[in-house]
Amino acid sequence: MAVTNIQKLVERFSRQILVKEIGVKGQLKLASSRVAIVGCGATGTFEAELLARLGVGFIRVIDKDIVELSNLHRTLLFTESDVEELKPKAIACKEHLAKINSSVTIEAVVDRLTPSNAEKLLSDVDLILDGTDDMHTRYIINEVAVKNRIPWIYVGVEQWYATVMPIIPGKTPCLKCIMPQAPRRRVNVCEILGVVNTVVGLATSIAVSDAVKILLGHDIESRLYVIDSLRNEVEKVIVHRNPKCPLCVLKQYEYLGKTEERIVTVCGSNQVEVIPGENMKVPLEKLVDTNGLHVIKKNPYVAKLKLNGHEIILFNNGRALILNTVDQEKAIKVFNKLFTILKHLGLIKVHHGIEINNQT
Ligand SMILES: [Zn+2]
Repeated sequence: MAVTNIQKLVERFSRQILVKEIGVKGQLKLASSRVAIVGCGATGTFEAELLARLGVGFIRVIDKDIVELSNLHRTLLFTESDVEELKPKAIACKEHLAKINSSVTIEAVVDRLTPSNAEKLLSDVDLILDGTDDMHTRYIINEVAVKNRIPWIYVGVEQWYATVMPIIPGKTPCLKCIMPQAPRRRVNVCEILGVVNTVVGLATSIAVSDAVKILLGHDIESRLYVIDSLRNEVEKVIVHRNPKCPLCVLKQYEYLGKTEERIVTVCGSNQVEVIPGENMKVPLEKLVDTNGLHVIKKNPYVAKLKLNGHEIILFNNGRALILNTVDQEKAIKVFNKLFTILKHLGLIKVHHGIEINNQT
């Protein structure tokens, strides 16, 4: 690092450098560290902001959704403008963080974390933070982390309560050691049970404290933190590795390599998500009203559309959310009709429609 850059870093982080566990050496170490955050909702944005302000040099945020009004009570980073402008959460997060610390490199990935993209997105970082509310995604993170020996920190919040567990592959229990199976499959806990924003702050502060210690090479305790913000109590539970853990001991990968579902009914939000059959980039700026299709709002990343009475959120990678329905057959028909129109407009080259009852 050039002398002027080091002078700037010392000035900016002067109060942090005074902390003996950090110092100039630790601050430089943070500046060269890389962290991925999976999920950019309440927990993900708290984590991302803390890391950017701490001076972590590279942050990759991965999230598939757009900012909604119902997110604002628990995400300090997002604003009503983000909702109005139909901003994907990862993009909104990147834009806000750039204003907080312009020297941090922030990579925004607007997509789901899947068995096929997880290793590409997570294996080139020093640490992974959990910002998701989905156990299926957490098991994918856990498998990538164990396979590539990357530390990660599990964070789960609901109502007034949270659990946090740092996982150092090879040293501490992995997620599967303590939770061999998801309690409920693909349950979006946040939307069904609700959450109070203060417990998100408590849980992410503990998680990011451990993240900093891990990045600086300090030892951390192998503990599950159980946080109760209704009573303002934090309990540290001793956890042990399962000597027969199918993942971190027997190296059986249940999720990586699995075929992805192309149709997902999004739990708790009355919508069906449809994934295109091939990689694509839809030039959304060229979308126009035509043949029953009405463009309600659009930006380079996402468009809100109406097609024959059905509302659709279309991302520029071809992923579509068919709103106000849980009927997958209906959603497939809307998706196929939309993509036929996109092909007709010349916005996509090929369209492999989805057959009803043959969804893979
Ligand atoms: Zn394990």
